[in-house]
Amino acid sequence: MSGALLDIRGLVTEFRTEAGLLHAVKGVDLTIAPRETLALVGESGSGKSVTSLSAMRLIPERVGRIAAGEILFTGRDGQTRDLAKLDQRQMSTLRGSEIAMIFQEPMTSLNPAHRIGVQIAEAARLHEGLSRKAAHARAIEMLRLVEIPEPERRAEAYPHQLSGGMRQRVMIASALVCHPALLIADEPTTALDSTVQLQILVLLKRLQEEFGMGVLFITHNLGVVAEIADRVAVMYGGRIVEDAPVAEILTQPRHPYTKGLLGSVPRTDHAARAGGSRERLAQIPGSMVDPFHPPPGCDFAPRCAFAQPACSAAVPPLEPTSRGSHVRCIRWREIA
Ligand code: ADP
Ligand code: MG
Repeated sequence: MSGALLDIRGLVTEFRTEAGLLHAVKGVDLTIAPRETLALVGESGSGKSVTSLSAMRLIPERVGRIAAGEILFTGRDGQTRDLAKLDQRQMSTLRGSEIAMIFQEPMTSLNPAHRIGVQIAEAARLHEGLSRKAAHARAIEMLRLVEIPEPERRAEAYPHQLSGGMRQRVMIASALVCHPALLIADEPTTALDSTVQLQILVLLKRLQEEFGMGVLFITHNLGVVAEIADRVAVMYGGRIVEDAPVAEILTQPRHPYTKGLLGSVPRTDHAARAGGSRERLAQIPGSMVDPFHPPPGCDFAPRCAFAQPACSAAVPPLEPTSRGSHVRCIRWREIA
């Protein structure tokens, strides 16, 4: 046993499309220790959401499938299960209780027709069999925990009566109501302005510590990882290209793609806000791999300033660098 909370090994996820088979995730390995926050970072289209939806078994069967890999999850009972092999009934028991998920746009997950208190209480009734009264009390407690003022009164509100930031807090309250061991947060702050974004990150960090959760935090913005992550995995073209502790990624990026992302980080940290300046976005030239026509060898080579003919000969292996860190680049030593 690895002692990991979540241990994804060799995950391959593909979609059947009119244009042919699309390889969205091409052999991803990820581990999250209990109480650890792993940030999964990469440009739009790199396969972050498909990785997390695969882990939650939310890839619609009509269009896609997990073609290979194991998704080992160790629950609070200490039992390790391969989520890739569970049936949908077993999986829906885990979702919302031991594993919870929050998304970018709360309005897609909140029901506009129900008061928020009722919606938060619903999960507690469903998964823990609480009475209506006990579940309502739990909902109020959760609203207080996510720092919503006047929780008793706000529990009676409908989603459209709240601001975007408040709605995201409600989403978090409803995700955490059953005290999950693992929270998957897919771009939870992307739709929010930067001040509210920081408040939500600080809140998530506090709740992660209070609840002792492991968190998979997905973002396209490397600027937010310093606020929240213990470790960072960088994804490109359906593969992990680098993973390392957060301080190492930010100060000593090894993969040219990570270096590029860091050159284009909009600052969200305290210093940048205090100065009131917004750093210019330096884009990485070129665009994301066409999933139907990936280049030979390294997916990033066509956009890479360090590319040589050898880079296109074969997909580079994910090599260990320092303790617990890896990079998928055959030139990482030379370009360090
Ligand atoms: P990210 O979250 O990193 O922006 P995604 O994981 O959403 O990227 O997408 C990875 C790739 O999978 C993209 O090429 C995307 O077009 C494709 N993809 C995602 N969902 C579907 C789907 N339901 N059907 C077909 N292709 C999909
Ligand atoms: Mg996504």
